[in-house]
Amino acid sequence: MKVARTRAELIEVRDALDGPLGLVPTMGALHAGHAALIESARRFSESVLVTIFVNPMQFAPTEDLATYPRTLEDDLAMCERLGADVVWTPSVENVYPGGAAQVHVDPGPLGRELEGVTRPTHFAGVLTVVAKFFALIRPAVGYFGEKDYQQLVLLRRMAADLDLGVAVAGVPIVREPDGLALSSRNAYLSPDERTQALALSRALFAGRDAAGGGAEAAVRGAQDVLAAEPGVCLDYLELRDPDLGPAPQHGPARLLVAARVGRTRLIDNVEVTL
Ligand code: AMP
Repeated sequence: MKVARTRAELIEVRDALDGPLGLVPTMGALHAGHAALIESARRFSESVLVTIFVNPMQFAPTEDLATYPRTLEDDLAMCERLGADVVWTPSVENVYPGGAAQVHVDPGPLGRELEGVTRPTHFAGVLTVVAKFFALIRPAVGYFGEKDYQQLVLLRRMAADLDLGVAVAGVPIVREPDGLALSSRNAYLSPDERTQALALSRALFAGRDAAGGGAEAAVRGAQDVLAAEPGVCLDYLELRDPDLGPAPQHGPARLLVAARVGRTRLIDNVEVTL
């Protein structure tokens, strides 16, 4: 496995890789959720390139950029064990050599809904850095987790709307045995908060179980679980269609939740059938 640090090193090792190339963008602090992405890329692509970059552009000034967990040595060991060919670990200056990007990808109306209500600049930051990675690395496929479901939908939309020539593949959420969706931010939770945080997945599963009774039943089933856990400060609980348009009456849909537990903001989602 090669580790590229600068932009020049990336370009050199990228050109030596056989196609089709699979790209797995991450912010590091890698866990089994990231491993599932790398494993998918390993299975379906000839070469695998992982990026580890905490992208300042997708953090608001009030968010946790400075304290975001950084575990580079462990991350590289995991990438090596999973058979990645290249890991790129650029600095902020490597990614934004001309200073902060002045031209951004506009996520459109969906970028202002759900996560976009409390994080209005977040998706412009995500889409811009991923567009830069697609241009620099020229993968055939980018692998992204369903954990960040709205991000996945927006990335698919960006690749299609801008004809980027990169396929966007979604990988199912990896959970702890007790249901908690793996997240680098789970490291912020105290033991008590971690117990409270289980209400998110429990609510989604209750909603999924109730979904045979229709959209209202699904939402109510999830709401009842969240209401019983005072440690969870709900941001939103919404039922949408799989592309995050308005919820359908029948068939596949997505139930999404965001909440604060202590000072940590968590998101989760599940597929439901109405
Ligand atoms: P992050 O490092 O948090 O930016 O995540 C990098 C990629 O890993 C994103 O595509 C996430 O959706 C994905 N990811 C994070 N957590 C999980 C999880 N529990 N299951 C599946 N994918 C995940």
